[in-house]
Amino acid sequence: MRRFTVACIQGLAVLAPNTACAAAAPEMAATPAPVPAMQATEASSPADAAEAGVLPRVTIVATGGTIAGVSDTRTSFQSYRAGSLGIDEMLSELRPQIDEVADVTTVQFGNRPSGGYAIADFFDLTLAVEEALETADAVVVTSGTGSMDEFVYWLDLTVQSRKPVVITGAMRPWTVIGTDAHANLFNAIVLAASGETRCFGTVLMLNDEFHAAKEAWKGDAYRMDTFVSRELGNLGFIDELDVRTYRAPPRVQHCADPERWMTPFDLNRISKDDLPRVEVLIGYQGAGLDEAITAWAEAGVRGIVLAGGRGSGEVQEKAEEMGVVFRRTHRFRTGTDNLYPQKARLLLLLSLAFTDDPEQVDAWFAELAGAEFQVDPGR
Ligand code: ASP
Repeated sequence: MRRFTVACIQGLAVLAPNTACAAAAPEMAATPAPVPAMQATEASSPADAAEAGVLPRVTIVATGGTIAGVSDTRTSFQSYRAGSLGIDEMLSELRPQIDEVADVTTVQFGNRPSGGYAIADFFDLTLAVEEALETADAVVVTSGTGSMDEFVYWLDLTVQSRKPVVITGAMRPWTVIGTDAHANLFNAIVLAASGETRCFGTVLMLNDEFHAAKEAWKGDAYRMDTFVSRELGNLGFIDELDVRTYRAPPRVQHCADPERWMTPFDLNRISKDDLPRVEVLIGYQGAGLDEAITAWAEAGVRGIVLAGGRGSGEVQEKAEEMGVVFRRTHRFRTGTDNLYPQKARLLLLLSLAFTDDPEQVDAWFAELAGAEFQVDPGR
C-alpha cells in the first residue's frame, strides 16, 4: 500500500508513502516520510512540493464517454449526452485538491462515446499516450465504459512504456447528483500518480477498484460496480489517498528487463494501413458460419475469431481455404487463459499487423493470452 501523505490539509494530502497521517489528524501534519520512487526530492508541505516541482506529472488523455456526459436534469442518471464536457472543465472541478496529488496536464484526444472510435483511432490513441509519457510520469485515459474492455487491452498490448497508464470512465454522467464521474477521475489520478502500477501495463480503474487489462469486462449497463475480473478478481483498491495492491499482472515480473517486458506490438514500427480487418463470429446452434466466412473473406478480412466451439473444425478449414487466419476462443468470459472474443480479436489483429507467420501468431497467443507467473519452487 502506498499512502500519499505528508501534510493533511483541506482533507487531502501530498505525496509520501506509508505514513499514518489521516485527514482527521492534523497534529501529524508535518511528519516527514520517505518519498515514492517517482519523486525527485522529499516534500514537507503541499505548497513546497508544488513549488519544488516534485509532484508526479500526470497527463490525462481524454476521449469522452459518460464521464464527460451532460445530463438532461440533475437526476437523469441514464439520459445524457456522452462526450460533451471538455477535460479542462472537468479537471477544474477537482481543484484545488487534485493539485496536491499531482501536477496534471491534459490532452483532449477526442470527445465521443467509446463506440465512436475505430481501430485506426486506437492506433492514434496509443501514439498520443506514448507521446504524453515522454514527459509525464503517468497517464490517465478517460473513455466510455461501453468498450473500455477493448480500450484497456489495446493500450496494454501496444504502449511500450513501463510507466503507469490508467483508464477510467463513469457509469453516471458528470452533471448528476451522486455521480461516480468526479470520484473516478480523481482516483484514477491518485492511482497513476502513486506509481504503484508501474510495469503493470494499462490498468482499468472504476468504482475504487483497479483491474488487469486482460481480465476486466463490463458486467452491467447501469451499475457502478460494473467491471469484473473473472474469477481472478481485481488488482486492488483506492481508498482516499491509499492505493492498496493485492495482486499484479504477470508481466510485472519482467520489469527489470525492458526488452522482455515490452510487447511485440510497437506501433512506431508499422503504419495504420498495416492494421488488418479481423472479425468475430459467434458459434451457436445452426449458425450459418460458412456464408459469413465467405462474405468476410471476399471483403478482405484477414482474420476471424470464432467464439464458441460449434463446428470449429470445418469452420477452420473453410477459413484457411479462403486465406483467412482462424482462431477459436470460448463464448464465455471465464476459464483458464481464455481471452474472450473481443480481446482475442485485438490480439489477432495486432499479431497479423506484425507477422504473416501462423506459428508466430500461435506463439504470441501462448505468451500473451497465457501469461502467468514463473514461480521457482527452489527459491
Ligand atoms: N455509452 C457510453 C460509452 O461507452 C457508456 C459509458 O461511457 O459509460 O461511451
